[in-house]
Amino acid sequence: MKLNILLILIIFSCSIQTCGGNGPTFDQDRSFEYLVKQCDFGPRNPGSDGYEACKQFIIDESENHADDVVLQPFTYTEQKDHQTYDLVNIIARFNTESDVQIMIGAHWDTRPWAEEDLDKFKRRTPIVGANDGASGVAVLLELMQVMSKNAPPVGVNIVFLDGEDLGVPGINESFGQGAHYFAKHLPIPKLDEAIIVDMVGDAQLTLPMERYSYNQNRELVKWLWNRAHELDLSAFQSKIGYAIYDDHVPLYQHAGIPSIDIIDFKYPNSYANYWHTHSDLPENCSAESLGQVGILLTDYIYSFSEETEGGS
Ligand SMILES: [Zn+2]
Repeated sequence: MKLNILLILIIFSCSIQTCGGNGPTFDQDRSFEYLVKQCDFGPRNPGSDGYEACKQFIIDESENHADDVVLQPFTYTEQKDHQTYDLVNIIARFNTESDVQIMIGAHWDTRPWAEEDLDKFKRRTPIVGANDGASGVAVLLELMQVMSKNAPPVGVNIVFLDGEDLGVPGINESFGQGAHYFAKHLPIPKLDEAIIVDMVGDAQLTLPMERYSYNQNRELVKWLWNRAHELDLSAFQSKIGYAIYDDHVPLYQHAGIPSIDIIDFKYPNSYANYWHTHSDLPENCSAESLGQVGILLTDYIYSFSEETEGGS
């Protein structure tokens, strides 16, 4: 199926760096406002006030922009403090009638702990998660704005996954609970392929090809990174980086959805770390970084051809 999908992507032969993107404009400044808005709710770890406020905000935005909204509630007992939480995946659907259905997802929860913080007295308090949480959601919320005004040529399912960041370091499967539940109990028809975006707001954005992604859907990775080069999106690096266990792995393992991850794990760079610390703040993110990913995803969505999918 992944080959079929790639065949209906229109491959442009325009020269490098002079080629405009497909489809409408992705507004990176409004996307960044979405990032700040989420952070203004405070930490969005399950059970917190910020979590409840942000959940309602995402549901409202989805209902205002999508053709259909599906809520997928579930519960999970995390393995560190053994707290049980009511969680929910939020699915905003566009063009539900299309024969081709793709997914673009991100986790909307933030981490209840800051175990990587240099201050050991602050390691038990929840992080703001400007990059680890808000950035991917900010791209998704702006994509919904784009698609509400410009119907996409294929079915696009924007999936806000919950419970990604309740995991215990060293136990991969304790991360990505929303993706585990989604893939084991598909709430919508099976998707043809999926792109996860995570930690894409880093002001010093670098995006090598993530290793699991390269194994799970190599054709899509190559197409996207090649297209990023054509569009002069310089954060995308045509080399294979770390293998990072993220929501794309359970999607592939449990449901066989050929899934990839666009992620910058070096936040901010090789010499310092803000990931899972109280430095994961809007001031360390940028609109330009969100734009790099949002412009590419917009181009990807509108690169699909309506006619070649069977004339439906
Ligand atoms: Zn995290």
